[in-house]
Amino acid sequence: MTTMLRTGDAGYDEARTVWNAMIDRRPAAIARCSSTADVVEAVRFGRAAGLEIAVRCGGHNIAGLSVPDGGLMIDLTPMNAVHVDPSQKRAWVQGGALLGELDKAAQEYGLATTAGNVSHTGVGGLTLGGGMGWLARRFGLACDNVVSYEVVTADGSVVRATADENPELFWGLRGGGGNFGIVTRFEFQLHEIGTRALIVELTYPASAGFHVLRGWRDLNEQAPREATFTASIKPDSVTVGYVWVGEGGYSLLPALRALGPVVGEVVEETTYLKLQTRDDSIQGHRYRRYWKGHYFKSLPDDAIRALLRTPGPSASLQAYGGAIADVPDGDAAFSHRETLFEFVTATRWEDADEDQARIARLREYAATLAPYASGAYVNTLNGDPIQRAFPPAKLERLVALKTAYDPANVFHLNQNICPGEA
Ligand code: FAD
Repeated sequence: MTTMLRTGDAGYDEARTVWNAMIDRRPAAIARCSSTADVVEAVRFGRAAGLEIAVRCGGHNIAGLSVPDGGLMIDLTPMNAVHVDPSQKRAWVQGGALLGELDKAAQEYGLATTAGNVSHTGVGGLTLGGGMGWLARRFGLACDNVVSYEVVTADGSVVRATADENPELFWGLRGGGGNFGIVTRFEFQLHEIGTRALIVELTYPASAGFHVLRGWRDLNEQAPREATFTASIKPDSVTVGYVWVGEGGYSLLPALRALGPVVGEVVEETTYLKLQTRDDSIQGHRYRRYWKGHYFKSLPDDAIRALLRTPGPSASLQAYGGAIADVPDGDAAFSHRETLFEFVTATRWEDADEDQARIARLREYAATLAPYASGAYVNTLNGDPIQRAFPPAKLERLVALKTAYDPANVFHLNQNICPGEA
């Protein structure tokens, strides 16, 4: 049953609080939904009342798109059930679940599917935009592992989308974001991955950064799919390494160590579940946040030079490739499958007086890398045009789908695909 919260109600402030502390908006009402029927009712209520509608799962969208000022927030967080059937290797996940809930339920059986790196991120937003994680080079993105979606559309109907049933909607939900309806249930393919993982992070002084990043880039070409190469660039140092999911994973270590004078080293055997929560506290909810992202389909030496001019505090690269690139581009809305590395530069702070300077510095740095970028991940867009996520032909097909399913653009508080506007 839906609980409707308004200003002054117990739980109202908690429900409108999201990951980025810069977001301080006040919905006219928050519909805390417990079932698909509740979501249908909420959509109908919002439309009849003429309220702007937003959808909240994990609340991790950087721009706080799930919180409408004066509108209706459809809060899916009470819908967090996960059911795993180990014999079929399937998980049925309600639309408001967090990644940690999916990971935990699947790992009971040594199973998992691709999920992001921070467990308090929402399955909903992450999967609908694509969903990158440590298993993606082996098994594809999160969206590549969705077998079926249950969706509440803008007119309040409940539809199912699979490869055979409403196939065009299925295509669009695989990377097209929250544009086509509210997903109340995802069915995921799971994989046997065991429970072990290895984290390797080798730190070098900034003076060796250029040589190290070039060597790391070249080694990435031969990396097995169990490994996802990572790099973190700071003004005074460069850290490169990889995350390996499964047993072993030491084979790449000697070549990385030989890249330069190592000044710090993390070689940590861990469990998959610990890996998936490792960044949870540094990614906690109390900070003001800003980020910019790019996709690189190659990393020429000049791009490395530009990367090294980071003002700090954080610039990172994560490798794509493997099973992500195996999926034919036309099979899903998700685009840029030829990406070699995803780049994100991020900053966090607490004092609102620092907002402008922090944001300006980060934007300036990201702009110096734009000439090397082939686009950007829809889930990291932050004020960027949607064209960065989807090339023209994809966008045209997405617009046609949006026009069919949501001609009035009821679901526009997302990385919006406007109906009727190719
Ligand atoms: P919300 O803000 O709740 O939702 C964002 C949007 O998604 C909503 O506005 C809505 O349009 C849509 N939406 C959410 N749920 C539904 C639903 N059930 N039905 C319909 N629409 C829905 N991305 C990766 O790919 N890999 C990562 O490892 C990764 N790590 C991250 C770590 C952190 C700390 C953060 C903040 C983000 C990370 N991201 C990652 C990016 C992440 O995918 C996006 O921020 C995503 O929007 C988060 O989804 P959410 O459900 O938490 O957010």
